[in-house]
Amino acid sequence: MRVPGVRFVQGRNRYGTSTKYAIAVHATANNASAANEAAYATRRTDGTSSHFYADNVEVIQSLDTADRAGHAGSTQGNTYAIAVEFTGLTSWSRAKWLSSVAWERIGAVLAAVSRHHNIPATRATVAQMRSNPRVRGAYDHNQMRLAWGGTDHTDPGPNFPWDKLLAVWQRHLAPPPPPPPPPEEEVEMFLIKKKSDGTVFVSDGVRRRPLPNFDAQRALQAIGVKSVPDVDTDAQLEAVAGPLAA
Ligand SMILES: [Zn+2]
Repeated sequence: MRVPGVRFVQGRNRYGTSTKYAIAVHATANNASAANEAAYATRRTDGTSSHFYADNVEVIQSLDTADRAGHAGSTQGNTYAIAVEFTGLTSWSRAKWLSSVAWERIGAVLAAVSRHHNIPATRATVAQMRSNPRVRGAYDHNQMRLAWGGTDHTDPGPNFPWDKLLAVWQRHLAPPPPPPPPPEEEVEMFLIKKKSDGTVFVSDGVRRRPLPNFDAQRALQAIGVKSVPDVDTDAQLEAVAGPLAA
């Protein structure tokens, strides 16, 4: 798939297509921008490629996610994983990483990709990768090295904030919260007097209750319950204040 709304710059070094089961996290080991990396990917001759490049500004797609890229060093990684290259160094601190990635952008991109490919926003372990190269989830280049070999790369390094990546990814995967319920209609109470016998009722316009005494009327008036004009007959009373409450 090509992710809607993401700049696509067609890269080279595509090796057919394959079904994907995972997201593979890399670091570029340099300070070039994602735009520079994506531009370089259109002409590089070392056989290397990646589906996405991400920096602190944007995410650029370089290959369709169906394409096989050259990023892992191993057949398993290249065949089963969608590569995301974060621009940065494996030596970076956690704080440096946190301030050097457009986290919301990559979270949205990973949500779109993982929905399409049925990839959960969880990190797989090396043991899981060894026992099942088609394990669904995310892992990094260092984990691919440990599970399948074929490389000496250890990126993205020990301080890469996996917790942050998984959190933004999961948040973008979550369905939007339901709309708030409509506000409850405020019930307007009022007092009404039947002139013939002097009985005062409190009503919400649907049902009416007689007040037992004047104190009850005063208490309601004290909390702002207003009176409507007096009526003469039961029919008028019922029309305005409703039938007697059961
Ligand atoms: Zn790598």
